[in-house]
Amino acid sequence: MGTTVRGLLQQGNTKLGTAIHVWSIPAVTTCPGRTSICEGCCYATRHRFRFDSVKERLDWNLEQTKRDDFCDRMVKEVRRKGVLVLRVHTSGDFMDRVYAERWLWIMKKVSRPRYYWYTRSWRIPEIAEVLEKMAALKQVRGWYSTDSETGTPERIPKRIKVAYLQVDEDTPPKPADLVFRVRRLRKLPRPRIGLTVLPLCPNEVNSEVSCGSCQRCFA
Ligand code: SF4
Repeated sequence: MGTTVRGLLQQGNTKLGTAIHVWSIPAVTTCPGRTSICEGCCYATRHRFRFDSVKERLDWNLEQTKRDDFCDRMVKEVRRKGVLVLRVHTSGDFMDRVYAERWLWIMKKVSRPRYYWYTRSWRIPEIAEVLEKMAALKQVRGWYSTDSETGTPERIPKRIKVAYLQVDEDTPPKPADLVFRVRRLRKLPRPRIGLTVLPLCPNEVNSEVSCGSCQRCFA
């Protein structure tokens, strides 16, 4: 008798839009580039992420990444579901070089979807090398996540963009291609550096805008 194997990917939520598929693993423990700032306001440790069913799912996903068949299963599922856009990690991050290389292999093997990710693992040099290879692929959009603790990366590889997380109205934002703000700052005027107004995530300005309709992060 055959065993029913659970799918690896899930469909996006209201913020992302259901046309986007997502892959996630547990937050914090898989985030080697995390800062006290992102850990302190991480949405992936709050709200629905506290439900036992969600925790069980993320732990299960993490287990799958350690199996020899992870890459083949992911490739098959992306093809079978006809995935168009794949957000790698709504929770968690590229936890080590081996895992990042697995994703690089998947992205090369099945190039149809548009893959996108935000990561602080750029702070780990051996992982950053793999991220750079991913971002060089035409089907990948990579974002280096930053905050006042990380500062701006010294080297930003071609095709990689920078997202800045603002948690404090007194800390001037750093240059970035996109700014995310914690909820209590969202009513404040747009952040600027000198005369330059930094672009805000439209979903944080108007919750009716989903990633599927905005597309800024993966278009
Ligand atoms: S900028 Fe657009 S695509 Fe990116 S997170 Fe915000 S709503 Fe989603």
